[in-house]
Amino acid sequence: MNWGCLSCLILFPVGFFIWVKNEVQRRNALPPNELKELEDEERYGKIDDDLECIFCHSKQCVRAEKKIYYRGGPDKNSLDGLLFYSANQKKYSEIREDVFLAAHCTKCGNTWEMHPPEDES
Ligand SMILES: [Zn+2]
Repeated sequence: MNWGCLSCLILFPVGFFIWVKNEVQRRNALPPNELKELEDEERYGKIDDDLECIFCHSKQCVRAEKKIYYRGGPDKNSLDGLLFYSANQKKYSEIREDVFLAAHCTKCGNTWEMHPPEDES
């Protein structure tokens, strides 16, 4: 084994470890409201200014994320989706996809799903 190869083997996990450590430190350094903001964004997506909450009718506080489901099946971007796809691969032309917008209101805390505005089917 040469040194280049060895240093690669050592540097990769060390680099990853440093990245994780920095990320944890960055999060710990954030004020609680900004940390919540960051976590909400990862969970529910970005705030969509045009969307209005169907519960409290507030604007500029609704986060939205596109979700794709196989028709009559699971979320496309999940492990279940992958299994569903491989199980039905032969008749893939028959697999239809449904697109939903998963919305979450940061004001009243409600979550709902809807068809995206451009999808008229
Ligand atoms: Zn609301």
